[in-house]
Amino acid sequence: MYKVTIDPGHDHQSNVSPTVKNYTEGVQMYKLAGYLALALKEYDIESEITRKSLKDCPTLEDRGKLAGKNGSNLFVSLHSNAPGKKKDGTYDTSITGTCVYYSLTDEDNKDLADELGNVISAKMGHNYRGSKTKEYSEEHPDWDYYGVIRNAARSGCKAAYLIEHGFHTCPKDAAYLMSDSNLRQLAQAEAKVIAEYFGAGKTLYRVQIGAFSNRQNAEAYKKKAEADGYQAFVVEA
Ligand SMILES: [Zn+2]
Repeated sequence: MYKVTIDPGHDHQSNVSPTVKNYTEGVQMYKLAGYLALALKEYDIESEITRKSLKDCPTLEDRGKLAGKNGSNLFVSLHSNAPGKKKDGTYDTSITGTCVYYSLTDEDNKDLADELGNVISAKMGHNYRGSKTKEYSEEHPDWDYYGVIRNAARSGCKAAYLIEHGFHTCPKDAAYLMSDSNLRQLAQAEAKVIAEYFGAGKTLYRVQIGAFSNRQNAEAYKKKAEADGYQAFVVEA
C-alpha cells in the first residue's frame, strides 16, 4: 500500500492574508490536508498528517523526518505564497500563480511537480510559475533549501515536495482558498494526480499467459515468466 505524509505548513496563526479577511495560511492548509487525506483514501492510499491538531506545530525537522519514520512513498508540504515586501512595507498584491518545489536529491521528482503544478493552477485559474529546486547554500549545493524537503529526503523519502498554492497576498488566490468547497475540489484533483503517479488511479489491462489445471504447473510457468523479466502472479479462477 502506498503512503503519503501530508504537511500543512506553519501553525494556526501564520500567515495572515493582507487582502482577504480571516485568511490564515496555517488554517486553510490544515483544512486542505484533511481533504487531501480523505481524497487519497478513495484511491486506497494511506496518509499521515504532520500536525495532529490545528494548533499543533512540529519543527520542520520533525515534519520531514516523519515521512521516513512511517515509510512514506511521498511527502507533500502544503502552503500558500507571499512575495517579499515592497520598500513601503506593503505587498504587490497582483502577483499570482502556483509553484512547486521538489527535492534535488532525485531528478525524477520533476514530473510529479509539473503534473501537480499544472492541475492546481488550472483549478485556481492562474498561470503555473513552474517546478523548481532550491539549493541550501553555495557550500552545500546538494542539500535542499527547505527544511521539510531536506529532512524528508534525508529520512529516506526522496519524493519530497513543497507546494505554494498561489499567493495569499493576491485577493483572487486567497478568496479561492477561503472556500471549503474549493479546497475539497483542489484536494480531489491533487489526489488524482498522486494516484496516477503511483499507478493506482489507472485502469490496468492485464495479459494472461497461461491456464493450468495443476497448481505446480502454474507455479513453474510463473517462475519461467519471472526469469524472463516479467512481473507474474498466479490467480485461482
Ligand atoms: Zn508557507
